[in-house]
Amino acid sequence: MATYRTASESETIALGERLARELPAHGVVLLIGNLGAGKTTLAKGIVNGLGAAAADEVSSPTFTLIHEYGEGRVYHVDLYRLDEPREVATLGLEEIFERDGVVLIEWGERFPRLLPAERIEIRIRPLADDEREIEVTRLPGNA
Ligand code: ADP
Ligand code: MG
Repeated sequence: MATYRTASESETIALGERLARELPAHGVVLLIGNLGAGKTTLAKGIVNGLGAAAADEVSSPTFTLIHEYGEGRVYHVDLYRLDEPREVATLGLEEIFERDGVVLIEWGERFPRLLPAERIEIRIRPLADDEREIEVTRLPGNA
């Protein structure tokens, strides 16, 4: 587990770029934190760091649910607007999890049974003002 602090939106984007270098090319990454914590902001940096799109081309998939960048290199999912696991099931996430790519998911922790055991969890907590604490945990798969 690693913990970081950022003091601005641009520092969080820069951290995402750094974290992207340590991510496996294939894997699920949960972005966990309240509304406005900075999940989408961190996703901008990760997408840019993976070379899939520029940070300012990344927008929140709150309404569209899934955005794809770099021809499948990165998927960015936001489950905020879904309430039931069966609604999530219609998205075909399992099939996306099998593809070669990084899958970033906001609000995915609300549907734990739909997630692979092997995943990375990134928690973002607001501290004072524009400061954020960002904690990265790697969960091993079921052996
Ligand atoms: P979420 O996806 O978690 O709802 P967003 O990334 O969309 O959050 O929004 C984060 C908001 O917080 C933005 O308005 C951003 O400018 C602001 N902000 C302030 N400080 C930071 C920081 N250190 N890191 C990320 N965002 C920050
Ligand atoms: Mg968001």
